[in-house]
Amino acid sequence: MAGANQESLGIRVILPEGGKTAPCCPHGPTLLFEKVSKGGGKGQRFYACSACRDRKDCSFFQWEDDKVSEARLLAREAKNQSKRPAFTQEEYCARYRTFASLPLDEKKFCQDCQILLLPGENEAHYPHRCIAITAAQLRRPSMLLCPLDNKKKNAQYLFTERSSHFLLDTLAALGYRKVLCVGTPRLQELIKLRNLEKKHEPVKSLLLDIDFRYAQFYSQDEFCHYNMFNHHFFVGEASSAVLQSFLSESDGEKVVMVADPPFGGLVKPLANSFSLISQTWGKLQNSGQCHCGDGSSTSDMPMIWIFPYFFEARILECLPSLIMLDYQVDYDNHPLYKHGKTGRKQSPVRLFTNICPRDIVLPKEEGYRFCAVCQRYVSSANKHCSKCNACPSKDGREWKHCLACEKCVKPSWKHCQICGHCALPDHPCGQGQRSEGCYNCGNLQHKQKSCHLKDSRRMRGCGSKAKSGVKHVSYDLPCMPKANRKSGAARRAKKAGGQST
Ligand code: SAH
Ligand code: ZN
Ligand code: ZN
Ligand code: ZN
Ligand code: ZN
Repeated sequence: MAGANQESLGIRVILPEGGKTAPCCPHGPTLLFEKVSKGGGKGQRFYACSACRDRKDCSFFQWEDDKVSEARLLAREAKNQSKRPAFTQEEYCARYRTFASLPLDEKKFCQDCQILLLPGENEAHYPHRCIAITAAQLRRPSMLLCPLDNKKKNAQYLFTERSSHFLLDTLAALGYRKVLCVGTPRLQELIKLRNLEKKHEPVKSLLLDIDFRYAQFYSQDEFCHYNMFNHHFFVGEASSAVLQSFLSESDGEKVVMVADPPFGGLVKPLANSFSLISQTWGKLQNSGQCHCGDGSSTSDMPMIWIFPYFFEARILECLPSLIMLDYQVDYDNHPLYKHGKTGRKQSPVRLFTNICPRDIVLPKEEGYRFCAVCQRYVSSANKHCSKCNACPSKDGREWKHCLACEKCVKPSWKHCQICGHCALPDHPCGQGQRSEGCYNCGNLQHKQKSCHLKDSRRMRGCGSKAKSGVKHVSYDLPCMPKANRKSGAARRAKKAGGQST
């Protein structure tokens, strides 16, 4: 897996192979990282948190071959226990039932604690901000809960109406009756709201998310506390049973997965988790019939993975059956990543799917059109290139063909005779294509100076400007280029300096 561009980039993830179990932090089994040595030999390996890239959020660190004392193991276990949610899922469900039956004027929500309050609990929350809740609000938890904005853990960027309706309409039209929502609470919410309208055929949904606040609003077969970076169910067996029963299509209902991971997340472990979900689904199918019609014997669970386009190569390397679509996903609480027509910027977030792209009809009123040659819907400015035999644009702008490079390139690029390839006119000439790529977005094709996502980086800086978080600002770990921008794991490795914590 260690592709050329990963080598120089510092750190890579070693996926767990059978046998060896990783130590656990409060977020479940940790991931094994390896410092990539220049010489190509085996680098130092260490375990660090799968979900948090900042030591402040989870300080777990252990060298691979550390001997951990019994006392330390016990302390670790005690710490993991202490990080458990205040209530079990059963308790949350019981609370919800009680809450739902309360008269309107007793329905209260504590904004400080992010919890629905039962009678008798009000006093304990004084002087917190406790607000009255209507039945309508109760059905829209993603609007009630304040989005987590921790950029290095679980930054939450919620779909606009436009994007969530598009996703649901598309999937419903394709006949899917069950949607596995992985990190997509707003999609699950929309599904449930629509079911109430009784205008459409009902769709079932199951939310898998690390944000346990959602457990307050859903029954046990609608929510599982889950970590998508290590495929960990926090309550173990009980949840995997819920997933299994959801994935079985014994009732003849087709299931599809929609995942919208934090964009700073590691592609490889995410791909691994999604494959494991797909395998679970596969085992539950009567026969291995193929859904893609190419006659191959293995079938994948239909899925949509929502991620920025500049991770395309990385995602396809991990999950080759996925194809990137031109549809631009946008977010309510994201100032920059708005759809081209209305927002200031075009969103770089795309759908990666193994559903046949011909079947995913992108909205005409937003300018998307069907390319008969490519057999997929493309952005209005994405003109088919007969030389590339593709609609080449990735970013929604019209790209142009370079005869020397024999491919289409961004409109702002010019062919450089010295470098022997296209680049921005003011590129650092003659230095060759440095493999570490863009310091801002992780893209290997340009440097930070020419990054059109520059603004998003500025947003995350310190001080007042950082208020609106950006979901997309960090990269797959192997793409962490500079020493001063080390990932949490890299920093931990450095800080620990040989001692485990
Ligand atoms: N656009 C989606 C939300 C995406 S934000 C929507 O509108 O529904 C990313 C989501 O992934 C959040 O819900 C967040 O809680 C969840 N998440 C973040 N880290 C996670 C992890 N390690 N495992 C599972 N879910 C995670
Ligand atoms: Zn409170
Ligand atoms: Zn071309
Ligand atoms: Zn060129
Ligand atoms: Zn960039």
